[in-house]
Amino acid sequence: MDNKKRNWYQNDPIMQRYFRQYVSHLKDWGEERLYQLGEYCAGPMEERAQYTDRDGTPKLIRYNRQGEEINEIWYNEGYLQTVGDCYEWGVVGWRYQEDVPCKIPYFYSQLMFMLMSKAEVGFTCPVTLTMSVAFVIEKYATEEQKKEFLPRLASMNRETLHQGATFLTEIQGGSDVGSVMTKAVKHGEHYLLTGEKWFASNCDADGALILARTGETLGTKGLSLFYLPKKLKDGSRNNVSIRRLKDKLGVRAVASGELVLQDAIGYLIGKEQEGFKLMAEALNVSRMCTATGSLAISQRAFSEAFTYVTERHTFGNSLISYPMIRESLLNMMVDIEASWTLVAQMLLHFDRVHTTQEDSFPDTLTLLRCLLAMAKVKCSEQSVLHAKESLEMHGGNGYIEEYVTPRLLRDAQVNTVWEGATNIMALEFWKNMSRNQPDANQNILLRFLSNGLNELTLSAYAEECEIARQELQKVSGQFDYLVQADPLTQQAHALHFLTSVTQLACAIFLMQQAEYGWKQDGETRMIKVAKYYCNRTYRPSLYGIGSSCIPSVEYFEEIVSGFVNGNVVNV
Ligand SMILES: Cc1cc2nc3c(=O)[nH]c(=O)nc-3n(C[C@H](O)[C@H](O)[C@H](O)COP(=O)(O)OP(=O)(O)OC[C@H]3O[C@@H](n4cnc5c(N)ncnc54)[C@H](O)[C@@H]3O)c2cc1C
Repeated sequence: MDNKKRNWYQNDPIMQRYFRQYVSHLKDWGEERLYQLGEYCAGPMEERAQYTDRDGTPKLIRYNRQGEEINEIWYNEGYLQTVGDCYEWGVVGWRYQEDVPCKIPYFYSQLMFMLMSKAEVGFTCPVTLTMSVAFVIEKYATEEQKKEFLPRLASMNRETLHQGATFLTEIQGGSDVGSVMTKAVKHGEHYLLTGEKWFASNCDADGALILARTGETLGTKGLSLFYLPKKLKDGSRNNVSIRRLKDKLGVRAVASGELVLQDAIGYLIGKEQEGFKLMAEALNVSRMCTATGSLAISQRAFSEAFTYVTERHTFGNSLISYPMIRESLLNMMVDIEASWTLVAQMLLHFDRVHTTQEDSFPDTLTLLRCLLAMAKVKCSEQSVLHAKESLEMHGGNGYIEEYVTPRLLRDAQVNTVWEGATNIMALEFWKNMSRNQPDANQNILLRFLSNGLNELTLSAYAEECEIARQELQKVSGQFDYLVQADPLTQQAHALHFLTSVTQLACAIFLMQQAEYGWKQDGETRMIKVAKYYCNRTYRPSLYGIGSSCIPSVEYFEEIVSGFVNGNVVNV
């Protein structure tokens, strides 16, 4: 395919729809930029990403020729160009600029982030980390620290930019953050940190947030958060060694290393022993990015597959004419639409709490945390499946590195692990669902879903609404059961419960989208998407052998080919 013809914003009607619906107030200021970025990401950025993944992965230069430790990372020129360009596009920076129509919401910057993630998730990892560090510094650092660190983290100039990183994981535990053993000892105005970090992405970042133990308190309560600069004020290197880089399955563009700290200088952020809480805020930003980045992989996987099966012929026909291929594409598209609804709710709530601050009630924060966990799990798990589906639709070629499909699959797989593995997200979800919420009637997320359902009015999906109502009752019953159950039972069912609630949420959000589209301009496609999603999930026998409906016949034209025609082909 000719990369020059591609524009991943222009050819993404779903992203455009969400832009119009939720950030249209930024149309004059910001939509043209998305068009330009869409072309950039699909063109030069994508080309460089291929090279970085195959031949230009970062390399550790630990010593110089005098045998002195320098701990530098070599990056290929193209990757460095991408880094400079993308921060200058403002993926992190716009939020902190003053000459803008309003505080730029994450909803907007995440659209930029998704366009970049379609090209290179290995690179959007450092972007995520920089965004997370900037967020925590903005919210919790002292005024003096903010003045010192934030302008560089938010810089839209490659010469002054400081990239960020977050260092939690040690060899004895990643999910079990309370097992961190790195120690911090107060030394005048700063702290001296000693210990080892087992996973550190963007390990040569200019400034990292790092967790270390102060005092004797065990577990997460004994952890404090520090800003760890790469270089000290006199220009010398901080006492952090990069022991080695990880040899990874995917996301090979980002340098993930093992670190050894020996009396490294760190600056306390917030108060001592409140570090875990603050790092959790950074994690929430990175979970948001992991969800949107995964969705971007799904969309890329879909468009690559669609293009390929349109062009490829077997047995005298184009692959896209075959019903099983159509069903695969249909299911991918419907799941992508479902994930978009969830991601949109996550972003809206993130901005409500953290950008416009119109609503920062504890309830909304809890709701946001539930949505973050749901979106992170659904989008990351799904992107692995979608990358696999896309690879298989390419046949043998899909397995060959000249195509993007192997990279998509390798890159997708990390998203279910980092920033909270799927089981951990399910536990996190349950913790938030059950905190101060003794029964389903008082549960913030279940009430949110119930209100959404009650507002639906279209008769076109009256049956599906009724099914969703019954499901809501079922899920509420499960909640009431689990909330009374012993911890083992709660843990055993945490992921099942998250999955059930996520399915239901997507069904309701899809119907809301359908209603919005219908009321705006009489659009019927999303009604079909919502109906198909609900029935496929809750009444699969409607499409089983012997039923009168074959989805690839009934739905393909309107949901997939009519919709993407002229958009996805040649993207
Ligand atoms: C490429 C890459 C880059 C990374 N970059 C960074 C980084 O920059 N900074 C950083 O701090 N970390 C980083 N990590 C580490 C990552 O966040 C952790 O690997 C992840 O959080 C999981 O922790 P773990 O590896 O210790 O697995 P474990 O905690 O040992 O978990 C192993 C498995 O057991 C499951 N599990 C654990 N506890 C439970 C439980 N109670 N119930 C049920 N299941 C459970 C988990 O879901 C997981 O599937 C990176 C990892 C990778 C792969």
